[in-house]
Amino acid sequence: MIEVDEILLQIEVEPAGLELLARAEELLDRPLTPHEVGDVFLRAMSTWVARLEKTLQAAIPKARPRCLRRDSARGIPGAVRLAVWERDDGQCTFVGTTGDRCIARRLLEIDRLKAIPSGNGTKLESFRLLCRTHFVYEARRLRAAQEGADTDP
Ligand SMILES: [Zn+2]
Repeated sequence: MIEVDEILLQIEVEPAGLELLARAEELLDRPLTPHEVGDVFLRAMSTWVARLEKTLQAAIPKARPRCLRRDSARGIPGAVRLAVWERDDGQCTFVGTTGDRCIARRLLEIDRLKAIPSGNGTKLESFRLLCRTHFVYEARRLRAAQEGADTDP
Protein backbone atom coordinates (compact mmCIF):
# COMPACT_ATOMS: atom_id res chain seq x y z
CA MET A 1 0.00 0.00 0.00
CA ILE A 2 1.38 3.37 -1.05
CA GLU A 3 1.22 5.90 1.80
CA VAL A 4 2.19 9.14 0.05
CA ASP A 5 -0.08 11.85 -1.30
CA GLU A 6 1.48 11.89 -4.76
CA ILE A 7 3.89 9.74 -6.71
CA LEU A 8 5.50 10.17 -10.10
CA LEU A 9 4.11 7.43 -12.32
CA GLN A 10 5.66 6.43 -15.61
CA ILE A 11 3.28 4.53 -17.88
CA GLU A 12 3.35 3.04 -21.36
CA VAL A 13 0.70 4.44 -23.69
CA GLU A 14 -0.27 2.99 -27.05
CA PRO A 15 -0.43 5.31 -30.09
CA ALA A 16 -4.23 5.49 -29.73
CA GLY A 17 -3.74 6.88 -26.21
CA LEU A 18 -1.26 9.47 -27.49
CA GLU A 19 -3.72 10.47 -30.20
CA LEU A 20 -6.40 11.01 -27.55
CA LEU A 21 -3.94 13.04 -25.51
CA ALA A 22 -3.15 15.21 -28.55
CA ARG A 23 -6.87 15.59 -29.31
CA ALA A 24 -7.58 16.71 -25.73
CA GLU A 25 -4.81 19.30 -25.99
CA GLU A 26 -6.21 20.41 -29.35
CA LEU A 27 -9.69 20.84 -27.82
CA LEU A 28 -8.26 22.74 -24.84
CA ASP A 29 -5.97 24.71 -27.16
CA ARG A 30 -3.11 24.19 -24.73
CA PRO A 31 -0.95 21.36 -23.37
CA LEU A 32 -2.31 19.24 -20.56
CA THR A 33 -0.69 19.82 -17.18
CA PRO A 34 0.74 16.79 -15.31
CA HIS A 35 -2.04 17.33 -12.73
CA GLU A 36 -4.71 17.01 -15.46
CA VAL A 37 -3.12 13.82 -16.81
CA GLY A 38 -3.07 12.47 -13.23
CA ASP A 39 -6.73 13.43 -12.84
CA VAL A 40 -7.63 11.57 -16.05
CA PHE A 41 -5.68 8.55 -14.78
CA LEU A 42 -7.56 8.72 -11.46
CA ARG A 43 -10.96 8.87 -13.19
CA ALA A 44 -10.10 6.02 -15.53
CA MET A 45 -8.81 3.87 -12.66
CA SER A 46 -11.91 4.67 -10.54
CA THR A 47 -14.19 3.57 -13.37
CA TRP A 48 -12.16 0.46 -14.08
CA VAL A 49 -11.89 -0.59 -10.40
CA ALA A 50 -15.65 -0.01 -9.90
CA ARG A 51 -16.33 -2.22 -12.91
CA LEU A 52 -13.98 -4.92 -11.54
CA GLU A 53 -15.68 -4.78 -8.13
CA LYS A 54 -19.09 -5.08 -9.78
CA THR A 55 -17.93 -8.08 -11.78
CA LEU A 56 -16.49 -9.76 -8.69
CA GLN A 57 -19.61 -9.00 -6.63
CA ALA A 58 -21.73 -10.59 -9.35
CA ALA A 59 -19.60 -13.73 -9.13
CA ILE A 60 -20.04 -14.14 -5.35
CA PRO A 61 -23.67 -15.34 -5.30
CA LYS A 62 -22.73 -18.07 -7.78
CA ALA A 63 -19.85 -19.18 -5.55
CA ARG A 64 -21.87 -19.35 -2.34
CA PRO A 65 -24.22 -22.22 -3.12
CA ARG A 66 -21.42 -24.23 -4.74
CA CYS A 67 -19.38 -24.29 -1.55
CA LEU A 68 -22.50 -25.28 0.40
CA ARG A 69 -23.66 -28.02 -1.94
CA ARG A 70 -21.73 -30.73 -0.14
CA ASP A 71 -23.16 -33.95 1.25
CA SER A 72 -23.36 -32.47 4.73
CA ALA A 73 -25.75 -29.79 3.43
CA ARG A 74 -28.24 -32.25 1.95
CA GLY A 75 -31.70 -31.96 3.41
CA ILE A 76 -31.12 -28.34 4.41
CA PRO A 77 -33.17 -25.92 2.28
CA GLY A 78 -31.15 -23.66 -0.01
CA ALA A 79 -32.54 -20.50 1.61
CA VAL A 80 -31.36 -21.73 5.03
CA ARG A 81 -27.93 -22.65 3.64
CA LEU A 82 -27.56 -19.19 2.11
CA ALA A 83 -28.79 -17.50 5.32
CA VAL A 84 -26.25 -19.50 7.37
CA TRP A 85 -23.53 -18.52 4.91
CA GLU A 86 -24.45 -14.84 5.13
CA ARG A 87 -24.89 -14.84 8.92
CA ASP A 88 -21.50 -16.51 9.42
CA ASP A 89 -19.94 -14.20 6.81
CA GLY A 90 -18.75 -17.12 4.68
CA GLN A 91 -16.19 -18.05 7.32
CA CYS A 92 -15.65 -21.01 9.64
CA THR A 93 -17.24 -20.24 13.03
CA PHE A 94 -14.98 -22.48 15.10
CA VAL A 95 -13.46 -20.63 18.05
CA GLY A 96 -10.34 -22.19 19.51
CA THR A 97 -9.20 -22.27 23.13
CA THR A 98 -7.36 -18.98 22.57
CA GLY A 99 -10.66 -17.31 21.69
CA ASP A 100 -9.65 -16.74 18.07
CA ARG A 101 -12.11 -17.60 15.32
CA CYS A 102 -10.86 -19.84 12.51
CA ILE A 103 -10.16 -17.75 9.40
CA ALA A 104 -11.00 -20.48 6.83
CA ARG A 105 -13.29 -19.34 4.00
CA ARG A 106 -12.88 -22.31 1.68
CA LEU A 107 -14.16 -25.89 1.79
CA LEU A 108 -16.88 -24.91 4.25
CA GLU A 109 -19.46 -27.36 5.57
CA ILE A 110 -22.77 -26.73 7.27
CA ASP A 111 -22.71 -28.26 10.72
CA ARG A 112 -26.01 -29.12 12.37
CA LEU A 113 -25.74 -28.33 16.07
CA LYS A 114 -26.89 -31.39 17.97
CA ALA A 115 -27.25 -29.52 21.26
CA ILE A 116 -30.24 -27.52 20.05
CA PRO A 117 -33.55 -29.38 20.44
CA SER A 118 -34.92 -30.16 17.00
CA GLY A 119 -38.38 -28.60 17.27
CA ASN A 120 -37.89 -27.09 13.84
CA GLY A 121 -35.24 -28.93 11.89
CA THR A 122 -34.45 -25.96 9.66
CA LYS A 123 -34.08 -23.19 12.25
CA LEU A 124 -31.17 -20.96 11.38
CA GLU A 125 -29.64 -21.17 14.85
CA SER A 126 -29.43 -24.96 14.44
CA PHE A 127 -26.63 -24.58 11.90
CA ARG A 128 -23.19 -23.07 11.60
CA LEU A 129 -20.39 -22.96 9.05
CA LEU A 130 -17.28 -24.98 9.75
CA CYS A 131 -14.25 -25.60 7.60
CA ARG A 132 -13.61 -29.23 6.68
CA THR A 133 -10.97 -29.62 9.39
CA HIS A 134 -13.21 -28.32 12.17
CA PHE A 135 -16.24 -30.17 10.79
CA VAL A 136 -14.34 -33.46 11.18
CA TYR A 137 -12.90 -32.34 14.53
CA GLU A 138 -16.36 -31.55 15.93
CA ALA A 139 -17.83 -34.82 14.59
CA ARG A 140 -15.05 -36.80 16.30
CA ARG A 141 -15.41 -34.81 19.51
CA LEU A 142 -19.17 -35.42 19.57
CA ARG A 143 -18.71 -39.14 18.83
CA ALA A 144 -16.11 -39.45 21.61
CA ALA A 145 -18.45 -37.65 24.02
CA GLN A 146 -21.33 -39.99 23.08
CA GLU A 147 -19.16 -43.09 23.48
CA GLY A 148 -17.96 -41.77 26.82
CA ALA A 149 -21.58 -41.27 27.91
CA ASP A 150 -22.49 -44.78 26.78
CA THR A 151 -19.70 -46.36 28.84
CA ASP A 152 -20.32 -44.29 31.97
CA PRO A 153 -21.78 -46.38 34.82
ZN1 LIG B 1 -12.13 -23.86 10.78
